[in-house]
Order: sequence, then C-alpha cells, then structure tokens
Amino acid sequence: MAAPGSAPVVVVDPGHDLRANSDTEPIGPGSSTLKIKDGGGTHGVVSGLTEAELNLRVGLRLRTLLRRAGVRVVMTRTRNAGASMGNIARARIANRARARLFLRIHADGSLDRAVRGTHTLHPALRRGWTDDVYASSKRAARIVQSELVRALGFPDRGLNERSDYTGFNWANVPVILVEMGFMTNPTDDRLLATAAYQRRAALGLCRGALRFLGRSPASCA
Ligand SMILES: [Zn+2]
Repeated sequence: MAAPGSAPVVVVDPGHDLRANSDTEPIGPGSSTLKIKDGGGTHGVVSGLTEAELNLRVGLRLRTLLRRAGVRVVMTRTRNAGASMGNIARARIANRARARLFLRIHADGSLDRAVRGTHTLHPALRRGWTDDVYASSKRAARIVQSELVRALGFPDRGLNERSDYTGFNWANVPVILVEMGFMTNPTDDRLLATAAYQRRAALGLCRGALRFLGRSPASCA
C-alpha cells in the first residue's frame, strides 16, 4: 500500500505493439464473450507511421512530463517488440499498481479519410464490472479530452461510452482511452507524425491527468 502523501501513480498504456495478437480473451470477468487480444491498430495514410509507434512516442514523452511533475509512472510497455500482450494484461498492470488513472493512448482509423479529430472513450456502466470506476472515469475523460483538444487544436469529437472494451471491463481503477486523431486522415496524420505534435499531445495528456488528480497542470510545462 502507498503511504499517505506519497506520489500518485498513473499507468500509461501506449496501445498495441510491434505485432497483433489474434488470441482471444473474455471481454469482462466471468464473461463467455471472447474478443481478439489486439487487432494491431492502424497506420498513417501519409506518414506510414504505425499507430503502435506513435502511441509509444507520445507515451514516453508523457512519462517524462508526469515524472517531472512528481507523479509515479508505470508503463505497460516501453518498446515496440513482439506480440501485443492483450487488454486483460494491460488492465492487470493498472490494477496491481493501484493507479489513480489508467491512461490508454491510441490513434484512430476510419474507412472515410475525411474523418478527423480527437475523442476519448470511457467505460459504460455495468454492474459488477465498472460500477466502481464509472463516474471517476467519465470525469477523467471529460477533463483529459478538453486538455488534449486544446493542446492539439484538432476538432473535438467528444466522449464515447463503451461497454465492449476488455481493458475497461477488467480495470478496477479509473480508466480512459484517448484517440488523439485519425491516422487515416492526411491532416491529422501529417501533424501527429511530427515531434512537435507528439509533444503537444503529451502536454495535453499531462495537464489533463494532473487536473484529474487535483494537482496544478502548470507543473507539466
Ligand atoms: Zn489503437
């Protein structure tokens, strides 16, 4: 157990990995509904960057900012190597760390190249699975989404409540998943592929996380 007054823990989860993982896992504790562990994510239509690499770059920058601000950071991964661990494993890392926030970093893809902008996903309410984290996750989603939109300047696509996300249903700590932008949109992709925008994304996420923790977002700069 963390001592009172000690640094809060944020678990940073850069989505995906070098390879997809087609094994399946139950979408929630005790569920007979199975879902694939990791379809592998999207990639930049112009940049050619993989989503796994983009998520990791932003995640590592976010780690640096949060640490500087006095937050303890646990990463679900720090490299692109091997098959993705799946979403139960990611949630278990956050649960074990007793994270004050489990922050999952992704970028989106769409068949429609015109679709762009930032949105944040949070768990839907389901008794026995998410009732313990529903309200706090929704509050975190609202705060982080607004800071991320402000930092990136992308269109605000709002929040999405999801009941089918394995990593949400297994989490016993507040959890959100940010979709920074659409890598299938040339504008979002071009910008997110730059170090400047990866820095902006990390700054927005840091500010959002600190505000959610009741700390001053000024310590992110
Ligand atoms: Zn993804």
